[in-house]
Amino acid sequence: MFKFFQNVPSFGKIYLSLEGMKEKLLGKSLDELRELCSELSLPSYSAKQIADWLYRKRVSSIDLMTNLSLKTRSVLAERFEVGAVMPSYTAVSRDGTKKYLFDCGSFVEAVMIPDEERYTLCVSSQRGCKMGCKFCMTGRQGFKGNLDAAQILSQFFFIEEAELLTNAVFMGMGEPLDNLSEVLRAIECLTAEWGVGWSPKRITLSSIGVNSSLVKGEVSPLEKFLDGCKAHLAISLHNPFSVERALMIPTEKGFPLEKTMEIIKRYDFTGQRRVSFEYIMFKGLNDSLRHADALVKMLRGLECRVNLIRFHDIGDTEFVPSDMAVIERFEERLQKAGVVATLRASRGQDIEAACGMLSGIKERNK
Ligand code: SF4
Repeated sequence: MFKFFQNVPSFGKIYLSLEGMKEKLLGKSLDELRELCSELSLPSYSAKQIADWLYRKRVSSIDLMTNLSLKTRSVLAERFEVGAVMPSYTAVSRDGTKKYLFDCGSFVEAVMIPDEERYTLCVSSQRGCKMGCKFCMTGRQGFKGNLDAAQILSQFFFIEEAELLTNAVFMGMGEPLDNLSEVLRAIECLTAEWGVGWSPKRITLSSIGVNSSLVKGEVSPLEKFLDGCKAHLAISLHNPFSVERALMIPTEKGFPLEKTMEIIKRYDFTGQRRVSFEYIMFKGLNDSLRHADALVKMLRGLECRVNLIRFHDIGDTEFVPSDMAVIERFEERLQKAGVVATLRASRGQDIEAACGMLSGIKERNK
């Protein structure tokens, strides 16, 4: 089954056209809302009310904040808008996975993955990506811009399953550590007591490991993330050998895996916070026992998990998915050496589920 709904009827695109280039409320912290209330000479208690409308009731327009006086709403609306982006398209897979497209200047994707009691949202952080991973459709699209916190939070708040979501992974389009300030802002709104109130344990950020800053002497985005919130970390590892990894992930040259591992080993992952490693399996490239043994050596002493993922063919590449028997042999080798490894099922195969595929198709047909 492959269904598209253009301009989802209950949402529509009207807010995109009504709301102009005003400053966005979505993504602001309670302190920032207090500041803006004071600037606009609004009652100070309005800040908490606005936060409630944004993060609990999730309204898409200031007009709908009905416990604010008409005057307060009108003063607020002169300078601000909510900043909501409604989904433009959905595609529903036979297995229940649902992909949403949001028009943020170009299309970005959010994928909702139901699994018994769990509803996980895979969220995008950028329009396209600079990292250029050879096996990734988003990487091939190039970089078109960062998403702001309002655009990130819209992926959570304005999908049909918003109230059902149990977990989120920053694993969609883009490298979240390359847009860290907006990603941290969104995570704060999701986890703060004045915000959605989620535990950070429900959120995982996935990265290729941006382990140095462009600004000399400044702490790296990876360390800033680990210091700045308590969400889990997943590293896209894919190959333990630097020279081979660089052929798949060109940024290995600037952000070597060795340095990422050195940083990770300085942090504590023995308690509530977890670190995991994503390992996409490509036939003949990273699926030998030599690779498995090197991976074991690299992860020694670290409490972690390895998620093995069979490559989801995106067409027109030299990459081929590993054979299932080879994947099972690899998994067994890791497990025998004491590394927790699981083979992750690929979901939504019939709806162009590989990151960046559906948005690429819809972008070309815009
Ligand atoms: Fe960017 Fe992730 Fe794709 Fe690499 S895999 S190009 S980091 S979106």
